[in-house]
Amino acid sequence: MDVCHYDVQVKTAIKEQKAEAIVLTDDGMNLTAFWTRLLCGCGTDGRFEPVYVMENIIPLFDKSFNYEIVERESWFYGEYLQAFYTPEANKIVIRDDVYERALAGVALDVITIAHEVVHCIQSIVMRFLNAMQCVEFKTAICSNDSNEMQQHELQTDRITSLVLSPDSLTEGKTDNEILQQYFINPLIQFVCGLIKTAGKNLLEALNDTNCYNEVKEVERCAV
Ligand SMILES: [Zn+2]
Repeated sequence: MDVCHYDVQVKTAIKEQKAEAIVLTDDGMNLTAFWTRLLCGCGTDGRFEPVYVMENIIPLFDKSFNYEIVERESWFYGEYLQAFYTPEANKIVIRDDVYERALAGVALDVITIAHEVVHCIQSIVMRFLNAMQCVEFKTAICSNDSNEMQQHELQTDRITSLVLSPDSLTEGKTDNEILQQYFINPLIQFVCGLIKTAGKNLLEALNDTNCYNEVKEVERCAV
C-alpha cells in the first residue's frame, strides 16, 4: 500500500471516528477554564506548562491516562495534524518534532500540546463541577466532522487561551467577584444541594408509615 493512500485512509478514519463532544455555556467555559487552570498550576508554582501537566499531573489523578510521542517517519495522520487526544484510549498522541519544540519553549507547539491537555482535563473538571451542581453542559457522541464536535473544538481552543492567559478570567473583577463567580456560588449550590437531598430524605422517611409507626412506638414507650 502506498503511503499516500494509507494517509487518506487514516485521515478518513479519524474524521469518521465518534467521540464525546462536550458543549458548554459561556459561563460554563469560564468556570471550566478557571478550575482547569488551578489544576494545571499544581507543582509549577501556578505556571501552566502543558508538557509537565501531561507527564506529571494528569497521571496523578487519572491512572488510565497515557501519552505517546510518535517519530515523524511513523506519523501517518497527515501533515496538518500534529497532535491529538483520543477519549476512548484516554491518550494524547504527539509528533516528536512538535514535542521537542514544545520542550524548547516554541509558543506554537506549546499551544498545540496545551489544547490536547485541555481536551483531557476538560472531562475530568466537568465531572467534578457537575458533581458540585455548578455547571450545565450537554454531551453527545458525534463524528469528528459534526457541528457539535466543531463547537467542542472551538470551545477547547477558547478554554486553552483562557488557561494560557488566566488574567483574562479575573481582570477587572474584585476579589469578592472572583470568589462569587468561581468559588462561593458553586460551594453554596453544593451545600444547598446536600440540604435539599437531606430534607427530601427526611420527608420521605416521615411519609413512610412503618417509620411513622416506629416513631409512635417510641413515643408510647416514652410516656
Ligand atoms: Zn482538539
